[in-house]
Amino acid sequence: MRKLTMKKTLIAGITGIILLALTALITLNIINSRTFQFFGGIVTRVHTEEKVIALTFDDGPTKKVDEILPILNAENVKATFFLIGNEIKQFPGEARKIALAGHEIGNHTYSHNRMVFKSLPYIKKEIENTDKIIREIGYNDTIHFRPPNGKKLILLPYYLKQNNRKTILWDLEPNTYPQINKSADTIATYVIDHAKPGSIILLHPMYDEKGNTIHSIKKIIKGLKSKGYTFKTVSELLKLQ
Ligand SMILES: [Zn+2]
Repeated sequence: MRKLTMKKTLIAGITGIILLALTALITLNIINSRTFQFFGGIVTRVHTEEKVIALTFDDGPTKKVDEILPILNAENVKATFFLIGNEIKQFPGEARKIALAGHEIGNHTYSHNRMVFKSLPYIKKEIENTDKIIREIGYNDTIHFRPPNGKKLILLPYYLKQNNRKTILWDLEPNTYPQINKSADTIATYVIDHAKPGSIILLHPMYDEKGNTIHSIKKIIKGLKSKGYTFKTVSELLKLQ
């Protein structure tokens, strides 16, 4: 009898551990998923036949803005910059230059903390404070939202849906892979080879000490233009959805 009870406890314990591990695995998958979330729209690319593409830059602003804007200007390309609230406060002049040059500005939270396992008031404050700061630098157009590291679980998508906002992600992220990130040429080649109509390219040029990403921008633009692509802001791309 005692042996049987022990066996039952052991089976219950093992089942519990397996269930916990499964729950953790599923949660992690949802946090990182590029295609699924519990509420609202999630955009990794726009489904269109047109050869259009969006260039998006995450984080900052930093002084690197002064290197990025002339490249875009020379190619007559409008990009979308997902800026961090507390960094706009550090570099308001750079943020203003982005807006004045006619690029789109998106909200990338105030602190760049992961918006996972955070309370609704915390999420609301992170997003609304940043909207306010973006307005204060003189930007008047639509503000899209992109979560730090693309991570989200339940409350962030819930909050965004309540506010009629989508989660804007990407389908091309060359900086993520060390083999691709090692030079401007490998970054550009990867993007040019993998771009599809409606793709959203994510680049991280704001803390780019080696300059690989910044130098890849012109190559990416020239390469995609020669394949017949035109560049759109995220808002313009979404209109084709
Ligand atoms: Zn980021």
